[in-house]
Amino acid sequence: HPDTRRPLLPGEATLGVMGGGQLGRMFVHAAQTLGFRTVVLDPDATSPAGLVAHEHIATGYEDADGLRRLAAVADAVTTEFENVPAQALLALAEHRPVAPGGAAVAVCQDRAAEKAHIQAAGVPCAPHAVIATAHDLAAVPDALLPGILKTARMGYDGKGQVRVADRAELATAWAALQQVTCVLEKRLPLLQELSVIVARGADGQLVNFPVQQNLHRDGILAVTQVPAPDVAPALAEEAVQCAGRIAAEMGYVGVLCVEFFVVADPADATAARLVANEMAPRPHNSGHYSLDACDLSQFDLQVRAMAGLPLVAPRLHSPTVMLNLLGDLWGDGRAPGRTPDWAAVMALPGAHLHLYGKASARPGRKMGHLTLSGATAEQVRETALRACALLG
Ligand code: ADP
Ligand code: MG
Repeated sequence: HPDTRRPLLPGEATLGVMGGGQLGRMFVHAAQTLGFRTVVLDPDATSPAGLVAHEHIATGYEDADGLRRLAAVADAVTTEFENVPAQALLALAEHRPVAPGGAAVAVCQDRAAEKAHIQAAGVPCAPHAVIATAHDLAAVPDALLPGILKTARMGYDGKGQVRVADRAELATAWAALQQVTCVLEKRLPLLQELSVIVARGADGQLVNFPVQQNLHRDGILAVTQVPAPDVAPALAEEAVQCAGRIAAEMGYVGVLCVEFFVVADPADATAARLVANEMAPRPHNSGHYSLDACDLSQFDLQVRAMAGLPLVAPRLHSPTVMLNLLGDLWGDGRAPGRTPDWAAVMALPGAHLHLYGKASARPGRKMGHLTLSGATAEQVRETALRACALLG
């Protein structure tokens, strides 16, 4: 195994990424800023990251020849999506440093393993049960209802989830999900949703971004605000500590995002408590603001962590609001859409427009995002409202 303690140097080495989506594209941009060569493996010939990397290997993620070529060209490899086959990462790790590693990614791919890991790190998660068999279904405690049934694997953006009120709905929902292994979670009264992004080096060094407050629509992230407007400092600090423990407990190397719920404490009406929801073994949509509002972005830290370069704590220099730009803005695919008035959007103070270069828009598809930064949180919120009015 190559020496992972010697850093890969800017201007000399090549960094590889599994996956060519928008996260890969922003990773490639950050790597290129430091003069790294970049290579993307993604089967899609028009993938957003493949279009901007020095080299694009357009094969499947398990294609032996593609993986061999990636290992030959890249001095280290990372991933930009959690459903990359963990086996592929393990195979690559026989030749090159891979961060995060296949074992950590495998945990994040499976909600049951993920929750077990979160609990092993001493962090609370939602009351839940794993349903793999009809026997498990029958044994579900009543206390988990009403609940949300989630497929253990391959869920994202609210897909693979069904809200169930009672046992009859639960049985119907599990049948509709083809009786694949699922996690049934108790439906919690959410006060807020937060996320914390940490970066951890191979030497155990840990740095974090400030707590992000997120708003989801139809299960898809819509808005991120930093600083989190509605979160007490002690709770924010606890979230950061929990995310760090979750990363350290699995010897994680790279950028990790942990999503949290803030839930009212039934025992104390004035108190709120944290529940970890899920994690992503990569930069996260809720951290895109860091490109424009921090002195180091989540992608800068992904590059540093995988290359064995020093991690420096990122600093938020401007209050910020991020708005996701979904394909819905372009129309619904049947009716001819309209392109948003980008010139008007760009006339807003502190507006940073990011479009991912995707060839076609679909409802719910992440096409870009808009970051609004400013001198005060109040000013930024006001600008965000004007942006929302322009976007319709
Ligand atoms: P995904 O992988 O699709 O992001 P999540 O588990 O994060 O799946 O669920 C998506 C959204 O559904 C969450 O952001 C939250 O708004 C809501 N949700 C998920 N689990 C619960 C729960 N146990 N109680 C209440 N709301 C939930
Ligand atoms: Mg989520």
